[in-house]
Amino acid sequence: MALIVQKYGGTSVADAERIKHVARRIARTREAGNEVVVVVSAMGDTTDDLIKLAQQICDKPDSRELDVLLSTGEIVASTLVTMALHGMDYPAISLSGAQAGIQTDSSYSRARILKVESQRVKSELDKGNIVIVAGFQGITNGMDVTTLGRGGSDTTAVALAASLGAGVCQRYTDTEGIYTADPRVVPEARRLPEIGYDEMLELATYGNKVIHPRAVELGELYNVPILVASSFTDRPGTLIHGGPFMEVRNKARSVAYDLDVAKITVVGVPDRPGIAAAIFEALARAGVSVDTIVQNASINNITDLSFTVAKSQLAKAMEVVRPIAKTIGARECTSDDKLGKVSIIGAGMQNTPGYAARMFGTLSEKGINIELITTSEIRITCIIEEAKVKDAVLALHRAFELEKED
Ligand code: ADP
Ligand code: ASP
Ligand code: MG
Repeated sequence: MALIVQKYGGTSVADAERIKHVARRIARTREAGNEVVVVVSAMGDTTDDLIKLAQQICDKPDSRELDVLLSTGEIVASTLVTMALHGMDYPAISLSGAQAGIQTDSSYSRARILKVESQRVKSELDKGNIVIVAGFQGITNGMDVTTLGRGGSDTTAVALAASLGAGVCQRYTDTEGIYTADPRVVPEARRLPEIGYDEMLELATYGNKVIHPRAVELGELYNVPILVASSFTDRPGTLIHGGPFMEVRNKARSVAYDLDVAKITVVGVPDRPGIAAAIFEALARAGVSVDTIVQNASINNITDLSFTVAKSQLAKAMEVVRPIAKTIGARECTSDDKLGKVSIIGAGMQNTPGYAARMFGTLSEKGINIELITTSEIRITCIIEEAKVKDAVLALHRAFELEKED
């Protein structure tokens, strides 16, 4: 018997009808002769609703209590899927993250999985049960409930697949796979039949949502192929794996965007050792994660330092940086929270000239100003005005002819 781990996202379990539909799909996988472990997200917008509710109760909810609250969303979904399977006469049991042995560190709201103690899941499978695990959550050594960060159910699923030695982790969502761009923005976007872990990691990190980046990292680390496919159709989807690849891919593969970008610039910074360390160490201590960092060439030993953070972290970052800017004698500290990121990604771009020029040329033809640029070997990212991001994605998709087959 093969063991399959499946994950169903929030849209796929958004209401009673969809939960019954998902249960029928799970039953089919079981009927095909497989052992099945299923990880579920919270129903629809439950997580957002619970966050809003907590904020109505108090301005800054305690992080431990918030994690317990948010973990309930996935627990609700896991019990309902289990009941739907019972209604169809299939043996099934729901487990919380803690019961499924997902052990994490104690960083509330962004906990990392330390190990998976999967004996309970295995013993339930041995009893003949289909096991439905609440995603997105784990438990610390001290028995406190944690959550893994937004979108974290993907990571639960891949971690379980790795620990149980499943042949594949199937991630079911509301699109038919990974596309050359977000199909909600680019109607002519094309589904990619397969993609490598490295490209997928860049796409997940620099794109909005598609799949939790840590799930892709774990997939690569433990060599678990991840199939991304629709829970609404039976189309083939996209296989994320380590190769070898059948296709020739000497081109850009996809365009990603992210609207959650704010920039801070410390203007008129004295150019001497230790300044960057003072700023970024303080930000790290405050738990602010900094993304792109750019320091201009200095003139008369004075320079400007810019960096980006998530919009939700801008206020906190400014609180940290303002006093430091004053102490080090910087002229001022400015911020802009109306920014976004657009990236082109493709392993085929490595060592091939011309991609950057074409990207910048396309944006300039659209009258889009580039605020900051960052690159990796297989990615070029431009930070631009938020209101222009969707136009930029459409224009780049066209300029790189991503709608055409490889
Ligand atoms: P789930 O609820 O199943 O976890 P998400 O909403 O987190 O699903 O992620 C799926 C969404 O990701 C899709 O509805 C789609 O709009 C978006 N998305 C962004 N970029 C892409 C892409 N390149 N390919 C496919 N989907 C994408
Ligand atoms: N429910 C959580 C979220 O909305 C986790 C997940 O869906 O993966 O972020
Ligand atoms: Mg998701």
